[in-house]
Amino acid sequence: MGKPSVSVCSAVSATEAFSVYVHAPFCARRCVYCDFAVTVQSEGDLDGWVQGLRSEIALIEQENLFVLADQLETLYVGGGTPSLLGPKAMSKLAGVIGSQRLTSQDLEWTAEANPESFSSEVAEEWRAVGVNRISLGAQTFDAAALRWMGRLHGVEGPIKAIEGARGCGIENVSIDLIFGLPIHIGRSWEDDLRRVIDLDVPHISIYGLTVEPGTHLGQEVRQGREPAVDEDQYRKEFLMAAEALTASGYRHYEVSNFARPGFESRHNTAYWSGNPYLGLGNSAHSFAPPVRRWNLHSWEHYRAAVGASKSPEADREILDESASRLERVWLDLRTIDGIPRPVEGTPQDRLARDWIERGLAAWIGDRCVLTPEGWLMLDQLAVEYETSALG
Ligand code: SF4
Repeated sequence: MGKPSVSVCSAVSATEAFSVYVHAPFCARRCVYCDFAVTVQSEGDLDGWVQGLRSEIALIEQENLFVLADQLETLYVGGGTPSLLGPKAMSKLAGVIGSQRLTSQDLEWTAEANPESFSSEVAEEWRAVGVNRISLGAQTFDAAALRWMGRLHGVEGPIKAIEGARGCGIENVSIDLIFGLPIHIGRSWEDDLRRVIDLDVPHISIYGLTVEPGTHLGQEVRQGREPAVDEDQYRKEFLMAAEALTASGYRHYEVSNFARPGFESRHNTAYWSGNPYLGLGNSAHSFAPPVRRWNLHSWEHYRAAVGASKSPEADREILDESASRLERVWLDLRTIDGIPRPVEGTPQDRLARDWIERGLAAWIGDRCVLTPEGWLMLDQLAVEYETSALG
């Protein structure tokens, strides 16, 4: 998937994007912990969103950094809450990207949805236009925890949403769950894992709660009304999920992701493989090696920029050799494919053996792969490995 390749039609070659991310910034309410690029309004601004994306694509065609592939391999619509944009959102998006680019039999087209806005009408119309994977923000099946987070759906919401997806032929459903919630809420992580396993979806993602300074939760923690994240509980819950989901037949194929065989997210795999990708919409990131760039964070600033035919790019970085190497190690270590077995006797080999002795990694064939214990220390281990290579 996502083969790095270049167009040879122009004097300066542009990177061909086989994987495209589109940001849908609208949410009906902001969750207490959320620091994503979100605009709170009761309904998504579908016309404004489509107009913004159309203007951005026109700008991209002029600048010659990217060219959209004739056939996309993956399209991921994330947010925010894409389902807040309603049933017509995906057909309008297809009109902007070009329906002819979305006809490959192998296209993985994912759209994120929240249970309260993923009606059967939304499911049917999205399916009809080609969406074949839904990523559902369930987070928990505990009513008190949903209220604490500020979520708008109830405990039964994800169950109905999955029925709606399956009812119109979308079997490929992923569920997001959050762990590490404060103990005082009384949420049982064990119960949530049992419930998600019972739903028998082919893909599950788990994310640990983080307290970001600019969020409502960040403020509550600063003022002592909420506790900071309990590291022990975080660790215990991550390991409990790894064990329970693996025992139920899911493959823990990346730090946060579990899949039945054949249902791994191909879009995210493109990111982890270091393939190029194009991001559209406010706050979206794009990668045309060695250039990484990202768009203006706020929807209002993004819309004003593209509306005036100005690039919405906020900034970019060019990865030098050492940054690229560290990133490669970090990306490799986060997946079940791990890093190639180092040459025997080298400092990297000694380090890998030390990880294995400490239960942080294992040899799988000719690869060194982190265990769930190792994944809890991913950032540190990637830096250690890269530093050891420097002698
Ligand atoms: S639904 Fe997701 S994007 Fe929207 S506010 Fe909640 S966490 Fe943020």
